[in-house]
Amino acid sequence: MTKLIYEFSEGNMSMRDLLGGKGANLAEMTHLSLPVPRGFTLTTVACHDYQQKQTLSDGLLSELDQALTHLSQTTGKQFDGTSQPLLVSVRSGAAISMPGMMDTILNIGLNDQTVEALATLTHNERFAYDSYRRLLAMFGNVVYGIDEATFDHVLTAAKHVNGYQSDLELTSADLKQIVNDFKAIYQQSGKGEFPQSPKEQLLAAINAVFESWNNHRAQVYRQQNHISESLGTAVNIQEMVFGNAGDQSGTGVAFTRNPATGEKKVFGEYLLNAQGEDVVAGIRTPQSIEVLHEDMPEIYDELMAIAEKLETHYQDMQDLEFTIENGKLYLLQARDGKRTPYAAVKIAVDQVDEGLITKAQAIQRVSPESVSTMLHPEFDEGALASHTPMTTGLPASPGAATGQVYFTAEDAKQAADAGEKVVLIRQDTSPEDIDGMIVSQAIVTSRGGMTSHAAVVARGMGATGVVGAHEIQVDYVAKVAKIGEQVIHEGDWVSVDGTSGELYLGQIKTTSVGVKGELSVLLDWAKEVAQMGVYTNADTPQDFQKALDFGADGIGLTRTEHMFFKPERLVQMRRLILAEDALGRAEPLTELLKMQQEDFYQLYKLAGDKEVTIRLLDPPLHEFLPHDEEEIQAVSQQIHLAPEKLRERTNALKELNPMLGHRGDRLAVTFPDIYQMQVKAIMSAVIRLHDEGLEVHPHIMIPLTDSKSEMAWVRQLVIDQIEAMMSDQEFELAYTVGTMMEMPRACVTADQVAEVSDFFSFGTNDLTQLTFGYSRDDVGSFMPEYIKQGILPADPFQTIDTEGVGTLMEIAINKGRQTKAELPIGVCGEVGGDPASIEFFNQIGVTYVSCSPYRVPVARLAAAQATL
Ligand code: ADP
Ligand code: MG
Ligand code: MG
Repeated sequence: MTKLIYEFSEGNMSMRDLLGGKGANLAEMTHLSLPVPRGFTLTTVACHDYQQKQTLSDGLLSELDQALTHLSQTTGKQFDGTSQPLLVSVRSGAAISMPGMMDTILNIGLNDQTVEALATLTHNERFAYDSYRRLLAMFGNVVYGIDEATFDHVLTAAKHVNGYQSDLELTSADLKQIVNDFKAIYQQSGKGEFPQSPKEQLLAAINAVFESWNNHRAQVYRQQNHISESLGTAVNIQEMVFGNAGDQSGTGVAFTRNPATGEKKVFGEYLLNAQGEDVVAGIRTPQSIEVLHEDMPEIYDELMAIAEKLETHYQDMQDLEFTIENGKLYLLQARDGKRTPYAAVKIAVDQVDEGLITKAQAIQRVSPESVSTMLHPEFDEGALASHTPMTTGLPASPGAATGQVYFTAEDAKQAADAGEKVVLIRQDTSPEDIDGMIVSQAIVTSRGGMTSHAAVVARGMGATGVVGAHEIQVDYVAKVAKIGEQVIHEGDWVSVDGTSGELYLGQIKTTSVGVKGELSVLLDWAKEVAQMGVYTNADTPQDFQKALDFGADGIGLTRTEHMFFKPERLVQMRRLILAEDALGRAEPLTELLKMQQEDFYQLYKLAGDKEVTIRLLDPPLHEFLPHDEEEIQAVSQQIHLAPEKLRERTNALKELNPMLGHRGDRLAVTFPDIYQMQVKAIMSAVIRLHDEGLEVHPHIMIPLTDSKSEMAWVRQLVIDQIEAMMSDQEFELAYTVGTMMEMPRACVTADQVAEVSDFFSFGTNDLTQLTFGYSRDDVGSFMPEYIKQGILPADPFQTIDTEGVGTLMEIAINKGRQTKAELPIGVCGEVGGDPASIEFFNQIGVTYVSCSPYRVPVARLAAAQATL
């Protein structure tokens, strides 16, 4: 028989899959002799079992009885006991932490008798009834699905009637009344009475936690984070300790380092005389952990020592939950702390310096995708200077964001779906708001601290976050927020600075930051480790410079056509295309030659000894031609060609399927002088640099090749031009002529194509388009539905389709290397900067990827992770 329940003392941290993250860590901390209240864990296997049978099995129930009996013995307390009542929490905990997503119930075991027993035992009636009312509310919500707000209303009304500011002022008489009112809510709900039997409470709670695995917010979270549905959750049953037992009690959370900045200093918040979620729920504004130093110095010191011990033990920053009951400290949870991308990088690098982890571990600690958020904008200092903040809150998650304001998750979601950039402003957030939070650029709340739900979620998602901006008063009914006299309406633009905590009206210009500090250190380590090179796609010196700053190894793809779209060049390009014959093409070609030569000169110069691959002209010619009558008139004047003639020529060049038409190397076959001009420009730049003392080895790339014979033809054209110029100038240098791999036909005949290619570079955009038969410019109309229906796991233009396109790539690589064992293989499509795709490329033997400048740091980290 499979064992379905483990006591904390029987488990350890390696048993995550079975015990869930919370259970495994409670067990581990128990072994470390930390003060953890006793308890046991119902395994994820028990959860599967429940999901299948839709009931708790007999085997589980008998193990549960044994475990309870043992807990009674070790604690000296009894369920239903009228002298020493045993109270427990029922806590969900999946293998992968899903903060706030699952349900937990505290104070199970209280009923009309045991509450009195607890009052007598503790000489604290107020505390006993405070605990009881909490149980009634949590149980009602989690087990019976009664809206939390229904209970909150009663509580708020009671405070209001008595003129209290905070829950703490409620007397035991008030709380007794509230308990009665809560029971009445059960009756009104029609879902049944509150069960007085502790055992019955416990079973219902276990059922509810198992059920909560399937609730909406848990599903959304799993989807967002790619967590498998089949994992299931464990359930922890743990003896209660009470942070609400009086002034010598409290509850709090602490991170072993600052989760926003990464600073090596324990960061936390706590509330005196409070229980469970009070800190995160933002019900009262918590105190900083530093205050605990004054309130309870010994507890503070003990907590600091535990923090250090745990961090060393787990070799990572920890997020701790603790409770103080009458001057005694208890640990209730430890897990790897969520952190901002900035903090993740800083902590990883610091921990290597401290000798706590290795460089390889550091590289694996940071998600490549999160690095991209670090490169993204900060507010432009100049622009910021002319704005005055409306208000300031706590800087919960750094970054700069602008967007239009919405006050509910649903409204934010709707606006974002309609293409708006949104900022969610709320009093506080709860797990129900997850849909709206995911789509928000920034999240702002008026209540709560640095560990409130809003703060944790924003940091987790890399969204900008400001919390506890208490001057903001949100009016959900009128859909406005007020800050003093100022009114923010729904749809107004605001700018949020998550680094300073400031909120501004209007849109503020942003600037981007570079790779610096710890990030630059980490990326250098990544470069040492990575097998694959990381190049950039760049057509201008500006783009290239950016990529070099981000650590690019060189240029993997220069799209020369982009150079032709500048107005003065477009004119020449049009003259060229519209010319009747080679003679008419000569003059515009000479003009274009001059300009291209300068372009290439600049790129090579910037590259220094780094390599640059230049692709010759690729797009269909008609892209350069006027599209409507107005443009025809203008162009006609510009190039001195009669409008009729122009119209006629334009019509002649029109194609039904331009992307499958007269483009790429097909242009070279019909207009060889265009490619000749480009090669001439490249060589002129190379010769000029040679004279200046810089040795450049040009790499020329032919687009759209589909056969060996075609490639051989174009290659000869290119080589003849190069050789002619070299013999003219009486000098020699090494150069390569390679091909893009973007035609399925070229992939399956790659052994032949390789005979006439010095390198391959996969153009995954075209290759994906042609493999699926999807027009990449038109997929928007059906792709989202394909992903939603699960027909495709992801957009293949963003993440490589390993099965189809990937197999073609593997065929091409294997065949190509049959012919040339050392054939360099690049990837230069959109997916060249996608971490999941990079992992695959590394597996199939790709030599380097090339991606847009902003993806370079992401790709560097992903390439290193793929190697490790
Ligand atoms: P979550 O996964 O949402 O954090 P938890 O199971 O950790 O939920 O519990 C919610 C809150 O209740 C936490 O603040 C936790 O510290 C507190 N809590 C849970 N079990 C106990 C217990 N046995 N005694 C005291 N507090 C508890
Ligand atoms: Mg917790
Ligand atoms: Mg292409």
